[in-house]
Amino acid sequence: MKALRDPSNWYHGKRKIELTFLGTRGEIKAISRRHRRHSALLVRRGRARIMIDCGTDWLKTFARVAPTAIVLTHAHDDHAAGLASGASCPVYATRETWTAIARFPIADARVVAPRVPFKIGGVSFEAFDVEHSLRAPAVGYRIDEGGPSFFYVPDVAAICEPHAALYGVSLYVGDGATVTRSMVRRRDDALIGHAPIVAQLGWCVEEGIARAIFTHCGSGIVRSDAREIAARIAALGEAHGIEASIAYDGLTLTLSMRRLASVEIVRRAP
Ligand SMILES: [Zn+2]
Ligand SMILES: [Zn+2]
Repeated sequence: MKALRDPSNWYHGKRKIELTFLGTRGEIKAISRRHRRHSALLVRRGRARIMIDCGTDWLKTFARVAPTAIVLTHAHDDHAAGLASGASCPVYATRETWTAIARFPIADARVVAPRVPFKIGGVSFEAFDVEHSLRAPAVGYRIDEGGPSFFYVPDVAAICEPHAALYGVSLYVGDGATVTRSMVRRRDDALIGHAPIVAQLGWCVEEGIARAIFTHCGSGIVRSDAREIAARIAALGEAHGIEASIAYDGLTLTLSMRRLASVEIVRRAP
């Protein structure tokens, strides 16, 4: 990753996506300045402003984000209930998610099929099934625009096709519900709940992903001292050969490409 910090590697061309973590809190009571709102990500490229997930915390506020499209990972309230009064832009979700939120007055509802890539404003999305909930089946999204790609999966017990989902990905954005304690349970043949950060770092190692950021933070992270938990996650990452960190509300990253292997990540203050 050292080369990535070398300014001579930075690329300021067109192929650039900007990611802003609008919210980074999971479905928990705990709240902090860094983790105030339910996890949501804004993906910007040109005029496209694509908001991924829109939980209860966004019900009255997401209009200010002014998304040109909204993409949902699943129907749990902390990801979808912000749409209870509708939306003034197209909303993308799987058939199972639409069934679960059929009561919401969404005028422009688009159906996402797993493993069938689709484009929004020049950004390509591909949904991958993940194990997380039986009532609200979830997906993660592999997102790219011809250059750098990243995988966004805020709630996950297991990725059903991890290699197809993660190969060649520059950045993994995962589930921060728990650091080392597993919150995965078995229901018949399925896994539900949340894989700990340490397990997700293992998935990144398998696919050679160099950078991981965790959102959808659980109370263990939200209640911790920000510096202490950052150091703990960085050390866990280092033990896996991965640059790992915790996202916070307002964090903005720019993924841009010079070569396929060169990614620029710019941090901004919250
Ligand atoms: Zn959640
Ligand atoms: Zn969930």
